[in-house]
Amino acid sequence: MEGTDRLRRLPGIDRLLSDCTELIARYGRQTVTDALRTAVDDAREAVRAGAAAPTSDALIAAAAALIARRRPPALQPVVNATGVVVHTNLGRAPLPEAARDALLAAAGYCDLEYDLATGRRGSRGGRLEPLLCDATGAAAALAVNNAAAALVLVLATLAGGRDVVVSRGELIEIGGSFRLPDIMGASGARLVEVGTTNRTRADDYLAGGGDAAAILTLHPSNYRIVGFVAQPTLTELAGVAAKRGIPLIYDVGSGLLQPSTGALTNEPAVADALRDGADIVLCSGDKLLGGPQAGLLFGRADLVAACRRHPLARAFRLDKLRIAALQATLELHLRDERREVPVWRMLTAHTAGLEQRCRRIVDGLVADGVPAELAEAAALPGGGAAPDATLPGPVVRVDAGRPTDVAMRLRAQRPPIVVRVTAAAIVVDPRTVDENDDDLIVSRLVAAHRASAR
Ligand SMILES: *Cc1c(COP(=O)(O)O)cnc(C)c1O
Repeated sequence: MEGTDRLRRLPGIDRLLSDCTELIARYGRQTVTDALRTAVDDAREAVRAGAAAPTSDALIAAAAALIARRRPPALQPVVNATGVVVHTNLGRAPLPEAARDALLAAAGYCDLEYDLATGRRGSRGGRLEPLLCDATGAAAALAVNNAAAALVLVLATLAGGRDVVVSRGELIEIGGSFRLPDIMGASGARLVEVGTTNRTRADDYLAGGGDAAAILTLHPSNYRIVGFVAQPTLTELAGVAAKRGIPLIYDVGSGLLQPSTGALTNEPAVADALRDGADIVLCSGDKLLGGPQAGLLFGRADLVAACRRHPLARAFRLDKLRIAALQATLELHLRDERREVPVWRMLTAHTAGLEQRCRRIVDGLVADGVPAELAEAAALPGGGAAPDATLPGPVVRVDAGRPTDVAMRLRAQRPPIVVRVTAAAIVVDPRTVDENDDDLIVSRLVAAHRASAR
C-alpha cells in the first residue's frame, strides 16, 4: 500500500473520541482530545517513515499512556515501614487524629476570621498565638507557612538591606534546596560570615559586621561537626548581642517546644532557647512538634509585632486547614497528651511492645514459608532532626532472594508499603507502622515473596 493510503487509514479524532467514554469521564474531554491528537500526529510520522497504520485501540492506548504520564494520580496513603519517623519523602509528620478531625471541620465555611459572638470580623492568628505562647513561655508568637518562610520573614523585618552575622560553621543546607546563604539573600539581608567551619568564638561575633542588624545562629539539624570544635553557648551569644544592642535570632529547626529526654536529649527546645536569651526563636510545626507543616516564631513582643506587620507576613500566612490542624496538635501538647501525637508515640515507643509485634510478624511470615527473623536495627527521628540520635529497636529481617524486587512489589499495591532494603534483605520496622497494619504487611510480604521467587 502507498504511504498516502496508509495515512488515510488513520481514524479521525471524533471517531476515536466516541470510544473513549471512560477516559473522558476520568480526565475530561479536552485532555483526551489533545492526547489523541498527539497520538495520531506521532502515528502519522511513523507511517510516513514506513510503519503500518496503528489500530484505533492502539491509538487510544497511546493517548491513555500520554495522559497517565502527565497526570499523576492523587496523593495516596502509604504504609511507612522504614522506621524513619519524620520521613520527608513520605509527608513528614503523620497528623494526630484530632488534627485530622479539625482540618475536616474547617474544610467548609468556618469562623476563620469571624467573631461569632459579635458577628464582626475576628482575628485569624488569635487562635494559635496564645497556644504557642503558653506552650513555650514566649511573650509573643506568630505562625507562617514553613520554617524557611519564618526565617525569610524575620530577616526581612529585622535586617532587610543590612548585615546579619552568621558563623561559617552554620552556613548549612537542609533538604529540598534550603541553603542558608540563598534564603538570606531572598530576604534582602546581607550575610557576614565569622569564624571558621569548625571553630567560632564569642569574640568573632563581637567584631564581625560593624553595622550588623542581628546575629543569627542555627541548630545544625542534619549534620554534626565533631573533633576540634568550638561554638559559644547560647547564653554567651545572647551576651554578645546585648552588648552590640542587636537581636539574637535562633533557628532551632525541629519544633521541640519543651526539653525532652531519650533520643531527643540533645535537641534544643524553644522554651530553653528563649530562657537562655534568644530574642527570636524559629522552628518547624511538623518535624518533632508532629503537626502540619508550618513555621513558628517566638520571642520579644516588639520584634514579633514588627514581623506580623511586614508585607511578607501576608504572603506567608497560614490557610484555614493548617491553622485547624496546628491548633489541635498544640492542644494535645498543652494537655500532655503527646501519646496522641503519632511522631511522639513513635519516638517513645517501648522496646517490649515493638518486640512483641515483630515476633507476631515473624511468626506469620515463617508459617507461610518466608524466611524471616527478629533483628536489631536503629530507627531514625529523620526530617532533619537529631542527626546523631538513633532509636535502637527490634525489626523484622526478611531474607528475600531479591530484596529490591520484593520491595517494588510491595510498593505496587494499594496502600503501597515502603520498607527498608539492604543488600541481602528487606527490613520492616514496626515503629512507624500503625499496629492495625501489621497483618497487611504479613500477607503482602508473603505474596510478594512468592511472586518474586517464581
Ligand atoms: C527543617 C529545617 C528548616 C526548614 O523547615 P521547612 O519547614 O521545611 O521550611 C529550617 N531550619 C532548620 C534548622 C531546619 O531543621
